[in-house]
Amino acid sequence: AVTVLVVGGTASYLFNTYYVGEREMELTHDAQAIAPFASLYFAGNRSARDTAEFLGYFDHLVGAWFWLIDRHGAVRVASGGADPVSLSPGDLGQVNGGTTIISRSFSHLYNAQMLLVAAPVFDSAGRVSGGLVLETPLNGLSQSMDVLRRLLFYSTVVALLAATGVALLLSGRLAKPLLQMNRAALGLAKGEYDQRVTAVSQDEIGQLARSFNFLAAELGKTADAQHRLEGLRRQFVANVSHELRAPLTAIRGFVEAMLDGLVDDPGVRHRYLEIILGETMRLNRLVNDLLDLSKLESGNLEMMVETVNLFGIIGRVLTKFKPLADERGILLEAKAATAPGREPCDVQCGAGSGSRAIKVQGNADRIEQALTNLLDNALRYTPGAGRVTVTVGIVAGEAKVEVADTGVGIPPEDVPYVWDRFFKVDKARSRADGGTGLGLAIVKEIVELHGGKVELSSRPGRTVFGFTLPLTQFDNSAG
Ligand code: ADP
Repeated sequence: AVTVLVVGGTASYLFNTYYVGEREMELTHDAQAIAPFASLYFAGNRSARDTAEFLGYFDHLVGAWFWLIDRHGAVRVASGGADPVSLSPGDLGQVNGGTTIISRSFSHLYNAQMLLVAAPVFDSAGRVSGGLVLETPLNGLSQSMDVLRRLLFYSTVVALLAATGVALLLSGRLAKPLLQMNRAALGLAKGEYDQRVTAVSQDEIGQLARSFNFLAAELGKTADAQHRLEGLRRQFVANVSHELRAPLTAIRGFVEAMLDGLVDDPGVRHRYLEIILGETMRLNRLVNDLLDLSKLESGNLEMMVETVNLFGIIGRVLTKFKPLADERGILLEAKAATAPGREPCDVQCGAGSGSRAIKVQGNADRIEQALTNLLDNALRYTPGAGRVTVTVGIVAGEAKVEVADTGVGIPPEDVPYVWDRFFKVDKARSRADGGTGLGLAIVKEIVELHGGKVELSSRPGRTVFGFTLPLTQFDNSAG
């Protein structure tokens, strides 16, 4: 609109100046050229009628009204149809002084700008005997100005429509995604991480929108992880407190009973003390497990890494559990399948003779701890007359240890959770046994610290816990 206004104003000003200037020059020239012929009238050589006819002729030719006035300003002759005209005293004085004057005025009668030129008429002696006056409306100009104004009006309308269209388009493409991003950013600040910008164009704004969405997704992931971690931590503290409370309550109860002198019978007292000892040992186990776990987890554990022969470890652990297995009437055995197609061989004899080895890079104590936990579970959850088998072998280029039992098994819905801390399939059953629910979590930490993986398959009558360890060297040369 501003541009159109400036262009229109300038154009009409220039147009006006040019057109009026041209017309002024034209009329001045005509007046001065025709004036000498009018002197004939003042000299008495031509009648008023002839002069009127003569002026009427020029009226048509020039397109202006003509008057012949005397030195007093009185009209002597007028071209056909012209109304009376009068000059201001100043103009008349100038004409009488021999000057051609130009004046412009607005005529309400014709509703137009009028251009008036008056030229002096000289007699043969060079004196001014009167004046020749020409007047014409400048309506040719106002018509042209009308056309110009109309053109300007139409172009303004078209320009405004075009500008509105462009503005709408741009606001659609620029403002919409920006507004969306603004809304989404405010949402993010409030923790609504599912906020996304949907208006993704191919330009720089679109790039910004994509980056924004990426940012939102990453923030969401971080927040989720933090949330989960926070939940785990809280649950962990709750679990620890819960686990500590039970033995402490028991110990306190029995100690108080004895302090109160309620227990006279030495046999009962002995039994109480045994219970207290059991609970204390359970507390001890719990604290040790927790300590182990936190050390394993923080990576603070100073792990002496060496080349370890799994046969050796398995042999040691089996020896350790043999009495317990015998006591429970469980058959404990070990097998090695070091190469596919070979007959499995008794580990103890193999390790003992030193002729075979599966060597991994790791810490012997930790691997033994993992295996101990698995065997401890296998014996604990296998009723009498069962069988527990430890198998070691090489599968897909990795050492693999499996502990299989013929026990109660784990319900399928619990299988994914047994590796979690404090998870117990049957709370009551575990408590009686003094399990902490941390054993498998420790196994998993140890195995993963060694770069291996834990696995589990279970059905009633056959539960197999296994783990893999990366191999250092597979020595079967003597085999
Ligand atoms: P806990 O000290 O209670 O044994 P674990 O982490 O070692 O804790 O085991 C978690 C749970 O998994 C146990 O409470 C038990 O219910 C189940 N579980 C572990 N090993 C076996 C198994 N060999 N047979 C059946 N259930 C098992």
